Amino acid sequence: MQARAALASVLAVVLALSGCAQPDSTIHAAAGSPPVESTTPTAPTTPTPSPTATHTKPPKPPLRPLPPKLPAGLRRTTGVKPVALTFDDGPSPAWTPKVLDQLRSAHVTATFCVVGLEAQRHPELIRRIVREGHQLCNHSWRHDLDLARRPVADIKADLVRTNKAIQAASPGTPVSFYRQPGGRWTPEVLAVAKELGMRPLHWAVDPQDWDKPTAATIAKRVHNAARPGSIVLLHDGGGNRAATLAACPHLIADLKHRFGIVRLR
Ligand SMILES: [Zn+2]
Repeated sequence: MQARAALASVLAVVLALSGCAQPDSTIHAAAGSPPVESTTPTAPTTPTPSPTATHTKPPKPPLRPLPPKLPAGLRRTTGVKPVALTFDDGPSPAWTPKVLDQLRSAHVTATFCVVGLEAQRHPELIRRIVREGHQLCNHSWRHDLDLARRPVADIKADLVRTNKAIQAASPGTPVSFYRQPGGRWTPEVLAVAKELGMRPLHWAVDPQDWDKPTAATIAKRVHNAARPGSIVLLHDGGGNRAATLAACPHLIADLKHRFGIVRLR
């Protein structure tokens, strides 16, 4: 009898372990087994959560699924004929100053969607962006592509932390926009951004400069896709932006000539 109980315990442990690896299979595996393990007190088939067990971290909440299509209310156009330029993922000491030089010589302004961690690292670049008449957009603390799928409290903490880093660099500067990393919006992140006074900023033209096409390709993609009022997505951070930088004189001149370039409002 003791041997039988021991065997049942072993079986129960094995079943419990296999249940950990494949959450959906636990019930089916148990169904074909002798009934003894469910009554064996020494080997529970499922781990019992204990209020005193503080050594284990609580499981991370599952990510909310992305909606099948982008939520309504995203800003993609300027609302007027001139287009707007947006630069994401900076500020970067390697690229942002060069982008700023180009914008200055072309006499145009842009919106910089900055990552909070980079804003904290390079506050002088935040100040230069503001000083030269550009505006700022919150692009999350560390460019978490899944941020919009996390609990609302986590989303809010991330956006607040990013705005604080921007404010620490440049007190009193308004952060009028939020752009979700990867454009992976959910209604929840939209609501949090609005609650914090930021408008959700998407885009109409994405030349995918992050994927390292040539400068000529970037300029051509922008040329072909731009329409009156387009918000154009480019990058001044997050990697080597030499091609974007080389494309900028051409695409800025082209957009200026065809539509004009305006600051987002
Ligand atoms: Zn980004």
